Amino acid sequence: MINSPVDEIKNRLDIIAVIGSYIKLQKAGANFRAVCPFHSEQKPSFFVSPARQIWHCFGCQKGGSIFNFVMEIERVEFGDALRMLAQKAGIELKKEDPRLKTERQRFYEMYELAARFFEKQLELSKTGKEAEKYLLSRGIKENSVKEWRIGYAPENWQGLSDFLVSKGYK
Ligand code: ZN
Repeated sequence: MINSPVDEIKNRLDIIAVIGSYIKLQKAGANFRAVCPFHSEQKPSFFVSPARQIWHCFGCQKGGSIFNFVMEIERVEFGDALRMLAQKAGIELKKEDPRLKTERQRFYEMYELAARFFEKQLELSKTGKEAEKYLLSRGIKENSVKEWRIGYAPENWQGLSDFLVSKGYK
């Protein structure tokens, strides 16, 4: 039987190390405690149990696993928390699992494609090349153009949307 990535990550990562990388934990008997990062308080009511690998706040009643913690503190969806923790645990996730694709991730992919589209316009189109000459004449270095991913938007107003549609976006 193959473990799910969630179980695998839980096995490999220690909750104390994960939460301790965000907030300062103090040992309190068998548990650790801290001032809760999710509500305002003076006296610590946020507890982490290394034995059970869970956390709980008696002030705001939030709690759960390392996944819930990362989702709360990073303000991300489950898929993003999973990716962050997988990376920490050194686990490779199967990329094609659509359940792991969050809206945020799809947007990042789209922005990446858009950036590449405009870069290519600058590099390859005829008017883009003129624009590039202009940039260089203004003292912008060629490697700065690359590093800052400067692109060129052709006058054709639907160039990008045609391109993205051709890549399967609606
Ligand atoms: Zn709390």
